[in-house]
Amino acid sequence: MPDVIDLIRTKRDGGVLADDDIRWLIDAYTKSDIADEQMSALLMAIVFRSLDPRELATWTAAMIDSGERLDLGSVSRPTVDKHSTGGVGDKVSLVLCPLVAACGAAVPQLSGRGLGHTGVTLDQMESIPGWSPQLANDEMIELLETVGCFIAAAGVGLAPADRKLYALRDVTGTVESIPLIASSIMSKKIAEGTGALVLNTTFGSGSFLRDIDVVRALARTMVDLGAANDVRTVARLTAMETVLGHAAGNALEVAEAVECLRGGGPSDVIDVVVTLARDMLMLVGIDVDPATVLESGAAFATWETMIAAQGGDPTAALPVARHRSDVVADRSGVVTRLDCRSVGIAAWRLGAGRARKEDPVSAGAGVVCRAKPGQDIQLGDVLLELHTDDPDRIEAARHAIAEGVTISDDFDPTTLPPLIADLIAS
Ligand code: URA
Repeated sequence: MPDVIDLIRTKRDGGVLADDDIRWLIDAYTKSDIADEQMSALLMAIVFRSLDPRELATWTAAMIDSGERLDLGSVSRPTVDKHSTGGVGDKVSLVLCPLVAACGAAVPQLSGRGLGHTGVTLDQMESIPGWSPQLANDEMIELLETVGCFIAAAGVGLAPADRKLYALRDVTGTVESIPLIASSIMSKKIAEGTGALVLNTTFGSGSFLRDIDVVRALARTMVDLGAANDVRTVARLTAMETVLGHAAGNALEVAEAVECLRGGGPSDVIDVVVTLARDMLMLVGIDVDPATVLESGAAFATWETMIAAQGGDPTAALPVARHRSDVVADRSGVVTRLDCRSVGIAAWRLGAGRARKEDPVSAGAGVVCRAKPGQDIQLGDVLLELHTDDPDRIEAARHAIAEGVTISDDFDPTTLPPLIADLIAS
């Protein structure tokens, strides 16, 4: 049996771990045969020393092998999923899954829960009365066949090594490592059994990785891992310098997603959705224009069927927070900056997000951005609506947003990065 302390020393000193040792490490940690403090030390060594491509391939394979791998081979439509590295106001999956299903593909969307300032699909969906994220494997396959998509909680059997490692990384300052992030995301997506995958890799203030060059390197690493595991994968780089759409907060985002599915909605959300839908359809060889399908109402019909199939009532009113307080403009001018992270933290403080995994979230809480960069405003106009069930939270939210909005005399749109940057393909 390898000596875990020797392996920690090897990585600490810049050495390369052998395949057998990596497999043993992941297996032993998953079975709790390695102590958290030893795995923490190894993870920190990886943060500083990285993993080379062969180590990363073996580390990812060991994480996949730590649990079950779904077999979607019986689904008659081609399968394609999407993963986002997160952001504020990111309701893209809610529109994208039914849209791509309405175009003829099958979308198995397995998701986790949010921590911190970025919103997460399951928390958004759980604001729909009656809707449940729990599906058994045979129910998932049936929904892919009949509806074309589902959005569900990833079961405990998928990549259990990642579940333990991610929880440990979260409390030991070892999240920010390209090989650790790439293996974490890709082990779950490969184990899910999808045939193809589009990664929405976000950069900017609202993303957990701000720097576009780091995000590009992460995207390249994940695309290569997908290809090596027979999952056709491409990555889009999208900006999260400001909120996507207007709403940040669970039910508020569902309402905005429904607007998009009904043929309206903010143009930035539609641009990202249609771009990712085109990428997904391209990967599975379906030659249909998603913009036309969105306008036709077919995606909305698929959304309603999906919600009902998962126990939800698509016609029920969404929860509304009990209190609202507005942030108004203290001068006239043009909004030149609405900082994504500040809005995300404000929404979180209003109750839309959780600090610990076991915390509840408020379905109605969040922020509606009435003004976005480039918009002219007058003194006293409402810039942001703050929604919460607990008025004691409003002060902290105002504090979070205080430095997040800039109003100037004029606006140079070239100072903003393009919303949709590169495509990284294998
Ligand atoms: N999301 C994941 O699933 N894993 C990471 O390591 C970071 C973000």
